Amino acid sequence: MNEEKGNISIHTQNIFPIIKKWLYSDRDIFVRELISNGCDAISKLNRLAAIGEAKVSDDTKYSVKVKFNKDKKTLKFIDNGIGMTSEEVKKYINQVAFSGAEDFIAKYKDKMDESNQIIGHFGLGFYSAFMVSDTVEIETLSYIDGSEAVKWICSGGTEYEMSGSDKSERGTTITLYLNEESAEFLNEYKLREIIQKHCSFLPIEIYLEDENPKEDESAKDKENKNEDKPLNDIHPLWMKNPKECTEEEYKQFYKDVFHDFKDPLFWIHLNVDYPFNLKGILYFPKLDHELNTIEGQIKLYNNQVFVADNIKEVIPEFLMLLKGVIDCADLPLNVSRSFLQNDRNVTKISKHISKKVADKLTELYKKERETYNNFWNDINMFIKYGCMKEEDFYDKVKDIIIFKNTEGVYVTLKEYLEANKEKHENKVFYVDNEKQQSQYIRMFKENGLEAIILDSKIDSHFINFLEMKESGVKFNRIDSDISDTLKDTDSKDENKEEIEKETKTLEDLFKNILNNDKIKVDVESLKSQDIPAVILLSEESRRMQQMNSMFPGMDTASMFQNEETLVLNRKNNLVKAILSKNNDESKKEDIKLIGEHIYDLAMMSHKQLDGEAMAKFISRSNRILTKLI
Ligand code: ADP
Ligand code: MG
Repeated sequence: MNEEKGNISIHTQNIFPIIKKWLYSDRDIFVRELISNGCDAISKLNRLAAIGEAKVSDDTKYSVKVKFNKDKKTLKFIDNGIGMTSEEVKKYINQVAFSGAEDFIAKYKDKMDESNQIIGHFGLGFYSAFMVSDTVEIETLSYIDGSEAVKWICSGGTEYEMSGSDKSERGTTITLYLNEESAEFLNEYKLREIIQKHCSFLPIEIYLEDENPKEDESAKDKENKNEDKPLNDIHPLWMKNPKECTEEEYKQFYKDVFHDFKDPLFWIHLNVDYPFNLKGILYFPKLDHELNTIEGQIKLYNNQVFVADNIKEVIPEFLMLLKGVIDCADLPLNVSRSFLQNDRNVTKISKHISKKVADKLTELYKKERETYNNFWNDINMFIKYGCMKEEDFYDKVKDIIIFKNTEGVYVTLKEYLEANKEKHENKVFYVDNEKQQSQYIRMFKENGLEAIILDSKIDSHFINFLEMKESGVKFNRIDSDISDTLKDTDSKDENKEEIEKETKTLEDLFKNILNNDKIKVDVESLKSQDIPAVILLSEESRRMQQMNSMFPGMDTASMFQNEETLVLNRKNNLVKAILSKNNDESKKEDIKLIGEHIYDLAMMSHKQLDGEAMAKFISRSNRILTKLI
């Protein structure tokens, strides 16, 4: 063909500096852009061949090769796809891309410095090569019979040169002459890493090759390279029919992609063609029990091209606690994130995903209740978080939220309320620290009462949420209140006056012993005789204290400091003894010891003693023991 020189039609003269600056945050992506253009070119040829529009020999092995040359400082992307005619180069490379990019930049320039953006990941495509190159060269031969090969060169300005080329094989070779700052991309490991990050599941085989290997490279090294093995998996599991995937495959895929050595609990294979195209696998990970936190990862793909991790605009936020891959061919991923939020498809997809998750959980609950119970520890945080984040999700799963009770049995809220409605209607007693509250738990058990265990971090928020949702239901920590069931109702004959007198005596005594005027003292007949006293703190006060500790700035602490009530059990022998010997001067010291100890013991099953209180407790214990001899 004739030589041709010309100017790229574009108004913005300084588009390259903009591209360079803009995309700088993630320079690696040029690799993905050029590889995916090669894959696109092959897929297009494939489609044409399938409808008889292109002749391709049967033994064609399609691939995209990436070749680096340390001496020449070049990086080549070679495909045997559809190629371009000179007209196409003019149309697709010279004009469209630039004008497209220009519009694009005009539209989104305010958002350019958003970190971790999708903008720039797609759309600029080919021109991302200039982020790392001084000069870019295209050599291409179209599949159309009789086409002439074309060579296109551009050195980063708006000028290009086009001429004929002696390329004899169909397809396109893009050669990047890397600039000084981009020498890092001539490293095999670096390239391999980038390709594996972005192109692991592209549908066309990708190979990496050193064009000019050093001679001293040992033979063993070469063997390890495995040059005939592609770097990617062209048939990722999520693209397969769920019926054809085995449990082993799901587990292996999970390990390969998320590098988690633990097996996942279970998974959901998404496979929808209509009304939108959505494929993917969501895994419920096994939690790290020590940390008790979930750190998920959802990888988003567009037709097997990796786009980004954890894009909250597409995936319901609470699903980020899971691990998985989602492939959406229908999303306009070449636009900005704020654009995605308004896309109707996005809303539909996100709804669909949470529905699928709710369905799967419900199915497990109904068909494999035992397994579901066993998983609960690992999945409860996810479900609770999901409920608080998404109304719809809550409505779908509210009946399958379970609670472990102090007997180790899992019950739903409904079941709990139903079973206990005679004893305490609409009231749910809970334990948030089994060890610390063991005294109360024992008391509850002895009296046939049931409490549930809510000991994960999210629970204090979740019970607030449930109280809002399930009107009338109140959650009370086990030490907030003495249920009537704990009281000895047989002592009907109790003399009110006598109790009042005792209460007064004990109140004065304990105020004196503890040197605390403000302490509230109450006297009750408890069924569990061996418990001298318990400390109660109303649920409201405790929640206020809790809130206060979260916002240390507001000094409400002093307001709630003395909300605790010391409830003494008049059925208990020690308490009885104190009462009867109260006036005996010779017992004064012993009574003081006992009183202080009763208080500390009650306190200990309510909350942790502070350092000073603990030291006093220990020294007093020693004194008491000494008295025994
Ligand atoms: P996009 O891929 O989003 O269309 P690009 O800037 O990456 O944008 O590419 C612009 C156009 O150039 C492509 O649509 C395609 O027509 C053409 N093109 C780029 N690379 C190749 C290639 N390797 N083989 C054939 N055509 C290509
Ligand atoms: Mg492209």
